[in-house]
Amino acid sequence: MLNEWCRIRRAAAALTLAAALAACGGEGGSSEAGGEGKDLPGDTTGGQAAPAAGAQPQSAAPAPKGPTGPVANLPPNEMGRIMVLEYHRTGSPEGEFVRTLANYKKDLQSLYEKGYRPVTMRQVLERNIDIPAGTTPVVFTFDDATRGQFYYRPDGSIDPNTMVGVWADFKQRNPAWSGGGVWCILPAAAHPSNFFGETPDKATPRAQREANIRKKMEWFVANGHEICNHTLFHARLDRAGSKVQDYIGIGEDSIKAYLPANYDIVTFALPLGMWPANRSLAWAGTYRDGKRYENKVVLEVSGGPNVPPWDREWNPHSVDRFIVAPGALERQLAFWEKDPSNRYVSDGDPRTVSYPRRMAARLDRSKLGGLTPKELPDAPAP
Ligand SMILES: [Zn+2]
Repeated sequence: MLNEWCRIRRAAAALTLAAALAACGGEGGSSEAGGEGKDLPGDTTGGQAAPAAGAQPQSAAPAPKGPTGPVANLPPNEMGRIMVLEYHRTGSPEGEFVRTLANYKKDLQSLYEKGYRPVTMRQVLERNIDIPAGTTPVVFTFDDATRGQFYYRPDGSIDPNTMVGVWADFKQRNPAWSGGGVWCILPAAAHPSNFFGETPDKATPRAQREANIRKKMEWFVANGHEICNHTLFHARLDRAGSKVQDYIGIGEDSIKAYLPANYDIVTFALPLGMWPANRSLAWAGTYRDGKRYENKVVLEVSGGPNVPPWDREWNPHSVDRFIVAPGALERQLAFWEKDPSNRYVSDGDPRTVSYPRRMAARLDRSKLGGLTPKELPDAPAP
């Protein structure tokens, strides 16, 4: 095992940073939402007997748990769509894979003010979208684990000029911004994409480096964020041949080495959005003499907003994302302001799925996972 690990480490080191990071999605990703995987994890939990259409709620909504923050003035629609945002590096000038820190700050602010709240992919997968009434879930994903995403300064504080630093500061000022993001890690990539810019082996003693990495992982777990596997070092899986399962499985092990023993990684991001020739190996496979991995959520690099997990077209094995390229999120938010008819709006009760009658045909009751559907009259036309 160790030999194999070292070989892959060497292969990773041989890649230039540019090659390792030739940015997710530069060559375009497939996005075949809904086309694959009839046997979906989580789909067998079985919906409970549904009340008749328009039935009254069976119990009062739970009391609010904390500050609510700004909400959208829209009726509940939990059959609406969910955006999965995709960030890469910070810096300037901006490009498809670079966001300035200033604009990333603005993204948090404008999403918050328009009533969006962060949830993780795990929460979506597990039907645990627990946000206040009148708010919309949004998933933040961050690929490639670069230094500009997360770094501890020598004095032990989080560098405020990183994506994590900005997030933590924003949350402190806006406690209703209570959820977390999804961080897709390359455990064996070349510096600075190895666990958020940890210095190369020779520059920092191994024990120190590992302590730094562990501290970062502890922060993510303690603050409600999700850790996602992005393979060992960003190899294209369409060209990886017999190594596909090692890149995914050993990648996951190499991340989990720094996580609590019971931490289950459920989300996997395809490097460059490229699928292995045998697509099912992105979802599950075996490596190291029969050890098994399973990715319940597979992230594409492009596509539009996603349907919710109780929609008949929900397919966690191919989740579309939305690259936060210059101007793109601004245009997207303007679109949802203008036409919110398919925007997900929470009813504030995590135990129910509320939706207008016009959306009823989209519901797949076998995907409710024990939640209670609640059909509402359609809102009158404006
Ligand atoms: Zn990537």
